[in-house]
Amino acid sequence: MKTFDVIIAGGGLAGLATAAQLAEKNQNLKVLVYEANQIGDGASGVPSGMVNPATGQRARMVWNAEASFRLLEKRMEQLSAISDTNLRLQHGVLRPAIDENLAENFRQSLRHTGWPKGWIEWLEPDEIKDRIPYLKECSGGLFMSKGKTVRTPEYLQAYHRYLKDSGVTFVFGGPYSIHNGSEWKLQNKNNSFTAPCLVIATGFKARENKYWSELPLNSVKGQLAIYHSPEYIGNLPAISAYGYLAPIDDHTIAVGSTYEHHYHDENPDAQGAGLLDQKLLELLPDLYPQCQRIGQWSGIRATTPDRLPIVGEHYAEKGLYIYAGLGSKGLLYSEFVASHLATHITEKKDLPLEISLYRFSRMEELREKAREENDSN
Ligand SMILES: Cc1cc2nc3c(=O)[nH]c(=O)nc-3n(C[C@H](O)[C@H](O)[C@H](O)COP(=O)(O)OP(=O)(O)OC[C@H]3O[C@@H](n4cnc5c(N)ncnc54)[C@H](O)[C@@H]3O)c2cc1C
Repeated sequence: MKTFDVIIAGGGLAGLATAAQLAEKNQNLKVLVYEANQIGDGASGVPSGMVNPATGQRARMVWNAEASFRLLEKRMEQLSAISDTNLRLQHGVLRPAIDENLAENFRQSLRHTGWPKGWIEWLEPDEIKDRIPYLKECSGGLFMSKGKTVRTPEYLQAYHRYLKDSGVTFVFGGPYSIHNGSEWKLQNKNNSFTAPCLVIATGFKARENKYWSELPLNSVKGQLAIYHSPEYIGNLPAISAYGYLAPIDDHTIAVGSTYEHHYHDENPDAQGAGLLDQKLLELLPDLYPQCQRIGQWSGIRATTPDRLPIVGEHYAEKGLYIYAGLGSKGLLYSEFVASHLATHITEKKDLPLEISLYRFSRMEELREKAREENDSN
């Protein structure tokens, strides 16, 4: 039997960020990441991820944007230093206004949102035409120099290496069972691992864990296609419209993504490919005829009803934690939320209500019920 202070189930963005934040807060903590498959096997394996501070039809600033960007950028800097590849493409994110209504929404966002200096600017239609000649006609757009594109698989590989060098243990193994005695015990066919704290960071699979079956999580399948462009597209920003388009290198772009609330299997399919071809055609009509689809990828996002992540300690089981619901913002939120979770675990500091498990009334009811049962025993 191997003993740890914290076991984290799941080696995606949530699990790795939690391991890092814990290890950095207290170097003496013994942390184990137990990944059922491989690093990046879940939604985090997305071939190219966009980090966009202005979302929705009204281009609202995302929750805790400044702190989230600060932590992500710090992590990117650290991981870039140990990676063989360039992890990030610093060409910003463009949100073209595809009609006049959207243009007005975007201008309102610029006027009325307290955007930090230098993050965001309005581009007139001819300025956009100059920068991206093959982009469809639009009524101007928001350009976010703060936005970025991240080579997510390489980011995860660098993260894995960094954590191993920092003393975090990794186990890759198949099925296991979880037991709750005086400590949490995770047992696979070869070994058992115990710790007083167990964090479930298994993405959309979290609800398969018997303790977390009541979580308000939805699974949404997303497909993405990769295209080769013979024309140089190395200076293309990520583009957020009808989904998103994110460059991977000077001749390759990822186009995403589908949002499938009802799906039969988790794999990419022909229907998804057709939709993504259509997105590329609509966005870059002059480039599309030369582009060739060279790959396709799919993943399952875990989303919550209010689109913010969900973290916290179980309502009845001491030392059992959840970290899920990163939705489409895994890159932006993973570090910031993990830093809160790590202080919650190590220093018992309260979590912000916006991401706490107990902002959902069902979770609060279960906690009350568990308290009553406890009091009557
Ligand atoms: C099509 C698509 C496009 C996306 N684009 C972007 C983007 O542009 N920008 C962005 O920020 N985000 C994007 N995302 C979302 C982002 O990838 C997710 O928010 C994030 O990856 C979720 O991370 P996670 O660690 O919670 O879950 P996951 O990445 O799903 O990780 C869970 C891990 O747990 C493992 N696991 C499963 N069950 C168990 C178990 N029982 N025990 C142990 N391990 C287990 C899995 O193998 C997996 O490695 C996209 C997602 C999709 C699907």
